[in-house]
Amino acid sequence: YGNRTGRRGVAFFREDMLTVARKNALLAIELRNALAAQQFFLEFQPQIDISSGRMVGGEALIRWRRPDGTVVPPGAFLPYAEESGLITAIDEWVLFQACRTARHWHDQGLDLRVSINLSARQFARRGIPNLIAHTLQETGVDPTRLDIELTESAVMHDFDLVRGDIMRIRALGPSISIDDFGVGQSSLHVLRQLKVDRLKVDKGFVRDVPNSQSDRIILRTIISLGHELGFRVIAEGVESVDQLAVLQDEGCNEVQGFYFARPLPTCGFMAFARRFIGMPAEDSIIAGP
Ligand code: C2E
Ligand code: MG
Ligand code: MG
Ligand code: MG
Repeated sequence: YGNRTGRRGVAFFREDMLTVARKNALLAIELRNALAAQQFFLEFQPQIDISSGRMVGGEALIRWRRPDGTVVPPGAFLPYAEESGLITAIDEWVLFQACRTARHWHDQGLDLRVSINLSARQFARRGIPNLIAHTLQETGVDPTRLDIELTESAVMHDFDLVRGDIMRIRALGPSISIDDFGVGQSSLHVLRQLKVDRLKVDKGFVRDVPNSQSDRIILRTIISLGHELGFRVIAEGVESVDQLAVLQDEGCNEVQGFYFARPLPTCGFMAFARRFIGMPAEDSIIAGP
């Protein structure tokens, strides 16, 4: 009897494995088609400078609209894109679209920086500085309006290689931010040698503030470490005015989060930016005298 149950168990397990493998293979095919069929799109989340109260930029965040209309968040498909290698093409697409969008903002009188995320794998690949140089030229965007977010793991993965790329990218004009700072395995030794512009504190450290005294101490420490090393510090995941007040008290430079705005589609982002800086909306300019 026990034997039979065991055999049935094995059979079930195999079927399940097959299903998972088949699902992943299908997803890989769907993702490849998605790029060609232009099913990816970007949303942009506003970033605000605390001391001036000005909106300074937006982070580009990818989404996938499937043919049935459902929108898939990046966490649900980027891991597969990384596994299949498609991430290289996706990151190239994001870079181009984001630069084109920032150029459009500029043409509309909005002086905003655009931040993009590059995957660790894409970054370890050689040739990123050239790709960026080419894209900047092709889109005509002001190079200093581009910001590249790299996670700690991307940087720590192959620091000697990455350091050279970071130097070359910054020489072209863009800034570099270290994303999700505090959750990876940053070595302080590496951090000291890192020439970047910004540390982006992971939202995990913001979430429980102001209630958690220990998280507040971690925030304070990251902010002063960043400042001592010559970086600006931006916090993500700011959802409440209380969190904002703590970040302001602790000297954080910039903030991003649902408290200000969720990631917005292109036109929503521009409308938000205009409202934020008190510019008339586009249609009222057109309708104006
Ligand atoms: P990330 O770069 O750390 O982006 C911030 C994430 O936090 C975004 O999730 C954003 O929607 C979310 N977020 C923003 N404000 C708040 C807030 O106040 N509260 C909370 N709880 N969450 C907030 P999203 O869009 O799902 O992106 C997840 C991750 O996927 C990103 O984390 C980034 O690592 C990756 N990703 C997104 N777009 C791209 C892309 O174009 N290329 C690559 N390589 N990775 C991307
Ligand atoms: Mg990011
Ligand atoms: Mg982040
Ligand atoms: Mg994060």
